[in-house]
Amino acid sequence: MISLDALQQRIQKIEEEIQTVCNRSGRNRQDVTIVAVTKQVSAKRTKEVIELGITDLGENRPEGLLGKKESILSEGLTWHFIGNVQSRKVKDIINQVDFLHSLDRMSLAKEIQKRATSPVDCFVQVNVSGEESKSGLQPEEVEEFIIRLAEYDKIRVVGLMTMAPFTQDEEWIRTIFRSLRELRDRMASKKLEHAPCTLLSMGMSNDYVIAIEEGATHVRIGTALVGTESEGDE
Ligand SMILES: *Cc1c(COP(=O)(O)O)cnc(C)c1O
Repeated sequence: MISLDALQQRIQKIEEEIQTVCNRSGRNRQDVTIVAVTKQVSAKRTKEVIELGITDLGENRPEGLLGKKESILSEGLTWHFIGNVQSRKVKDIINQVDFLHSLDRMSLAKEIQKRATSPVDCFVQVNVSGEESKSGLQPEEVEEFIIRLAEYDKIRVVGLMTMAPFTQDEEWIRTIFRSLRELRDRMASKKLEHAPCTLLSMGMSNDYVIAIEEGATHVRIGTALVGTESEGDE
Protein backbone atom coordinates (compact mmCIF):
# COMPACT_ATOMS: atom_id res chain seq x y z
CA MET A 1 0.00 0.00 0.00
CA ILE A 2 1.24 3.49 -0.75
CA SER A 3 1.18 6.22 1.87
CA LEU A 4 -1.56 8.81 2.24
CA ASP A 5 0.89 11.44 0.99
CA ALA A 6 1.65 9.48 -2.13
CA LEU A 7 -2.07 9.00 -2.70
CA GLN A 8 -2.69 12.71 -2.32
CA GLN A 9 0.07 13.53 -4.80
CA ARG A 10 -1.36 11.08 -7.26
CA ILE A 11 -4.84 12.57 -7.04
CA GLN A 12 -3.44 16.07 -7.31
CA LYS A 13 -1.43 15.17 -10.39
CA ILE A 14 -4.48 13.76 -12.14
CA GLU A 15 -6.54 16.75 -11.07
CA GLU A 16 -3.95 19.12 -12.55
CA GLU A 17 -3.74 17.11 -15.72
CA ILE A 18 -7.51 17.19 -16.14
CA GLN A 19 -7.55 20.94 -15.57
CA THR A 20 -4.86 21.35 -18.24
CA VAL A 21 -6.74 19.22 -20.77
CA CYS A 22 -9.92 21.16 -20.07
CA ASN A 23 -8.16 24.48 -20.61
CA ARG A 24 -6.53 23.24 -23.80
CA SER A 25 -9.74 21.88 -25.25
CA GLY A 26 -12.00 24.72 -24.16
CA ARG A 27 -13.99 22.70 -21.69
CA ASN A 28 -15.24 23.52 -18.21
CA ARG A 29 -13.63 21.50 -15.47
CA GLN A 30 -17.07 21.13 -13.83
CA ASP A 31 -18.29 19.23 -16.87
CA VAL A 32 -15.88 16.36 -16.19
CA THR A 33 -16.57 14.03 -13.28
CA ILE A 34 -13.81 11.81 -11.96
CA VAL A 35 -15.24 8.43 -11.05
CA ALA A 36 -12.65 6.76 -8.82
CA VAL A 37 -12.78 3.06 -9.60
CA THR A 38 -12.12 1.35 -6.27
CA LYS A 39 -12.74 -2.25 -7.35
CA GLN A 40 -9.13 -3.21 -6.67
CA VAL A 41 -8.73 -1.56 -3.29
CA SER A 42 -10.04 -1.91 0.26
CA ALA A 43 -12.72 0.11 2.01
CA LYS A 44 -9.91 1.68 4.03
CA ARG A 45 -8.16 2.98 0.92
CA THR A 46 -11.52 4.11 -0.45
CA LYS A 47 -12.16 6.15 2.70
CA GLU A 48 -8.79 7.81 2.19
CA VAL A 49 -9.62 8.91 -1.33
CA ILE A 50 -12.91 10.31 -0.05
CA GLU A 51 -11.05 12.28 2.60
CA LEU A 52 -8.87 13.63 -0.19
CA GLY A 53 -11.91 15.07 -1.93
CA ILE A 54 -13.20 12.35 -4.27
CA THR A 55 -17.00 12.16 -4.29
CA ASP A 56 -17.77 9.70 -7.09
CA LEU A 57 -16.95 6.03 -6.68
CA GLY A 58 -17.17 3.19 -9.19
CA GLU A 59 -17.41 -0.53 -8.55
CA ASN A 60 -17.85 -3.34 -11.05
CA ARG A 61 -19.14 -6.15 -8.87
CA PRO A 62 -22.20 -6.29 -6.61
CA GLU A 63 -20.16 -7.57 -3.64
CA GLY A 64 -17.69 -4.72 -4.04
CA LEU A 65 -20.40 -2.09 -4.21
CA LEU A 66 -22.43 -3.40 -1.31
CA GLY A 67 -19.38 -4.06 0.86
CA LYS A 68 -18.02 -0.56 0.34
CA LYS A 69 -21.39 1.07 0.93
CA GLU A 70 -21.76 -0.84 4.17
CA SER A 71 -18.43 0.23 5.59
CA ILE A 72 -18.41 3.77 4.20
CA LEU A 73 -21.26 5.72 5.64
CA SER A 74 -20.25 9.19 4.44
CA GLU A 75 -22.98 11.30 2.94
CA GLY A 76 -22.74 13.20 -0.29
CA LEU A 77 -21.19 10.36 -2.27
CA THR A 78 -22.28 9.29 -5.72
CA TRP A 79 -22.08 5.57 -6.51
CA HIS A 80 -21.51 4.29 -10.02
CA PHE A 81 -21.91 0.69 -11.09
CA ILE A 82 -19.60 0.20 -14.06
CA GLY A 83 -19.49 -3.54 -14.63
CA ASN A 84 -21.54 -6.20 -16.32
CA VAL A 85 -24.65 -6.99 -14.34
CA GLN A 86 -26.11 -10.45 -14.35
CA SER A 87 -29.88 -10.14 -14.42
CA ARG A 88 -30.27 -12.16 -11.23
CA LYS A 89 -28.07 -9.64 -9.38
CA VAL A 90 -30.07 -6.59 -10.43
CA LYS A 91 -32.28 -6.73 -7.38
CA ASP A 92 -29.25 -6.55 -5.08
CA ILE A 93 -27.78 -3.37 -6.49
CA ILE A 94 -30.25 -1.40 -8.53
CA ASN A 95 -31.65 0.62 -5.65
CA GLN A 96 -28.16 1.18 -4.27
CA VAL A 97 -26.59 3.02 -7.20
CA ASP A 98 -26.84 6.55 -8.53
CA PHE A 99 -25.65 5.64 -12.03
CA LEU A 100 -25.50 2.37 -13.94
CA HIS A 101 -22.90 2.55 -16.73
CA SER A 102 -23.55 -0.82 -18.30
CA LEU A 103 -27.04 -1.09 -19.71
CA ASP A 104 -26.43 -3.31 -22.72
CA ARG A 105 -29.46 -5.50 -23.35
CA MET A 106 -33.24 -5.56 -23.23
CA SER A 107 -33.38 -8.40 -20.70
CA LEU A 108 -31.41 -6.22 -18.28
CA ALA A 109 -33.76 -3.29 -18.91
CA LYS A 110 -36.73 -5.54 -18.12
CA GLU A 111 -35.18 -6.66 -14.87
CA ILE A 112 -34.40 -3.08 -13.86
CA GLN A 113 -37.98 -2.10 -14.64
CA LYS A 114 -39.17 -4.87 -12.36
CA ARG A 115 -36.82 -4.20 -9.45
CA ALA A 116 -36.15 -0.47 -9.30
CA THR A 117 -38.24 1.53 -6.86
CA SER A 118 -37.50 4.82 -8.63
CA PRO A 119 -36.05 5.77 -12.02
CA VAL A 120 -32.39 4.84 -12.48
CA ASP A 121 -29.92 7.00 -14.41
CA CYS A 122 -28.35 4.65 -16.96
CA PHE A 123 -25.61 4.88 -19.55
CA VAL A 124 -26.14 2.59 -22.52
CA GLN A 125 -22.92 0.64 -23.10
CA VAL A 126 -21.73 0.56 -26.69
CA ASN A 127 -19.08 -1.73 -28.16
CA VAL A 128 -17.66 0.83 -30.56
CA SER A 129 -14.39 -0.98 -31.23
CA GLY A 130 -16.17 -4.20 -32.18
CA GLU A 131 -13.80 -6.36 -30.13
CA GLU A 132 -15.47 -9.67 -29.39
CA SER A 133 -14.33 -9.65 -25.78
CA LYS A 134 -16.24 -6.46 -25.05
CA SER A 135 -19.84 -6.15 -24.01
CA GLY A 136 -22.13 -3.47 -25.28
CA LEU A 137 -24.50 -2.87 -28.14
CA GLN A 138 -23.23 -2.44 -31.65
CA PRO A 139 -23.40 1.26 -32.58
CA GLU A 140 -26.06 0.61 -35.21
CA GLU A 141 -28.32 -1.02 -32.59
CA VAL A 142 -28.26 1.89 -30.17
CA GLU A 143 -30.97 4.11 -31.61
CA GLU A 144 -33.64 1.43 -31.77
CA PHE A 145 -32.67 0.15 -28.33
CA ILE A 146 -32.99 3.58 -26.74
CA ILE A 147 -36.28 4.31 -28.47
CA ARG A 148 -37.70 1.05 -27.15
CA LEU A 149 -36.70 2.02 -23.62
CA ALA A 150 -39.45 4.63 -23.64
CA GLU A 151 -41.77 1.92 -22.30
CA TYR A 152 -39.61 1.52 -19.21
CA ASP A 153 -40.41 4.28 -16.79
CA LYS A 154 -37.73 3.10 -14.35
CA ILE A 155 -34.96 3.81 -16.85
CA ARG A 156 -33.60 7.21 -17.74
CA VAL A 157 -30.92 7.14 -20.42
CA VAL A 158 -28.49 9.84 -19.33
CA GLY A 159 -25.74 9.00 -21.79
CA LEU A 160 -23.51 6.47 -23.54
CA MET A 161 -20.53 4.50 -22.25
CA THR A 162 -17.71 2.66 -23.96
CA MET A 163 -14.38 1.00 -23.22
CA ALA A 164 -11.45 1.77 -25.48
CA PRO A 165 -9.75 -1.11 -27.30
CA PHE A 166 -6.63 -2.71 -25.84
CA THR A 167 -4.09 -0.97 -28.00
CA GLN A 168 -1.22 1.51 -27.86
CA ASP A 169 -2.56 3.18 -30.96
CA GLU A 170 -3.79 6.51 -29.65
CA GLU A 171 -5.37 7.56 -32.91
CA TRP A 172 -7.45 4.39 -32.92
CA ILE A 173 -8.56 5.09 -29.34
CA ARG A 174 -9.43 8.67 -30.31
CA THR A 175 -11.47 7.44 -33.26
CA ILE A 176 -13.46 5.17 -30.94
CA PHE A 177 -14.18 7.96 -28.45
CA ARG A 178 -15.10 10.35 -31.23
CA SER A 179 -17.57 7.86 -32.71
CA LEU A 180 -19.25 7.51 -29.33
CA ARG A 181 -19.53 11.27 -29.02
CA GLU A 182 -21.10 11.53 -32.47
CA LEU A 183 -23.57 8.82 -31.57
CA ARG A 184 -24.34 10.65 -28.32
CA ASP A 185 -24.90 13.89 -30.24
CA ARG A 186 -27.29 12.14 -32.59
CA MET A 187 -29.30 10.64 -29.75
CA ALA A 188 -29.33 13.87 -27.73
CA SER A 189 -30.63 15.81 -30.72
CA LYS A 190 -33.79 13.67 -30.70
CA LYS A 191 -34.69 15.17 -27.32
CA LEU A 192 -36.43 12.03 -26.14
CA GLU A 193 -38.10 12.58 -22.81
CA HIS A 194 -36.87 9.32 -21.31
CA ALA A 195 -33.42 9.68 -22.87
CA PRO A 196 -31.76 13.10 -22.64
CA CYS A 197 -28.51 11.26 -23.46
CA THR A 198 -26.17 14.17 -22.83
CA LEU A 199 -23.39 12.39 -20.92
CA LEU A 200 -20.37 10.38 -22.09
CA SER A 201 -18.68 7.81 -19.86
CA MET A 202 -15.33 7.04 -21.44
CA GLY A 203 -11.66 7.06 -20.52
CA MET A 204 -9.71 5.02 -17.95
CA SER A 205 -6.23 5.28 -16.41
CA ASN A 206 -4.41 5.01 -19.72
CA ASP A 207 -6.64 7.08 -21.96
CA TYR A 208 -8.61 9.59 -19.90
CA VAL A 209 -6.76 12.55 -21.46
CA ILE A 210 -7.84 11.53 -24.95
CA ALA A 211 -11.35 10.86 -23.67
CA ILE A 212 -11.68 14.35 -22.19
CA GLU A 213 -10.36 15.90 -25.40
CA GLU A 214 -13.10 14.00 -27.20
CA GLY A 215 -15.84 15.11 -24.82
CA ALA A 216 -16.00 12.66 -21.90
CA THR A 217 -18.16 13.88 -19.01
CA HIS A 218 -17.30 10.90 -16.80
CA VAL A 219 -13.82 9.38 -16.70
CA ARG A 220 -13.51 6.09 -14.82
CA ILE A 221 -10.05 6.03 -13.29
CA GLY A 222 -8.82 3.11 -11.22
CA THR A 223 -5.15 2.20 -10.95
CA ALA A 224 -3.72 5.62 -11.84
CA LEU A 225 -5.76 7.25 -9.08
CA VAL A 226 -6.28 4.80 -6.23
CA GLY A 227 -3.63 2.23 -7.09
CA THR A 228 -4.03 -1.41 -6.19
CA GLU A 229 -3.76 -3.13 -2.82
CA SER A 230 -0.68 -5.08 -3.79
CA GLU A 231 1.56 -2.28 -5.07
CA GLY A 232 4.58 -1.22 -3.06
CA ASP A 233 5.30 2.20 -1.64
CA GLU A 234 6.69 4.72 -4.08
C1 LIG B 1 -11.63 -1.40 -13.97
C2 LIG B 1 -12.42 -0.51 -14.81
C3 LIG B 1 -12.03 0.83 -15.01
C4 LIG B 1 -10.76 1.43 -14.44
O1 LIG B 1 -9.63 0.87 -15.03
P1 LIG B 1 -8.16 1.44 -14.77
O2 LIG B 1 -7.40 1.02 -15.98
O3 LIG B 1 -7.68 0.82 -13.51
O4 LIG B 1 -8.27 2.91 -14.66
C5 LIG B 1 -12.86 1.62 -15.79
N1 LIG B 1 -13.98 1.16 -16.35
C6 LIG B 1 -14.39 -0.11 -16.18
C7 LIG B 1 -15.65 -0.58 -16.82
C8 LIG B 1 -13.62 -1.00 -15.41
O5 LIG B 1 -14.01 -2.26 -15.26
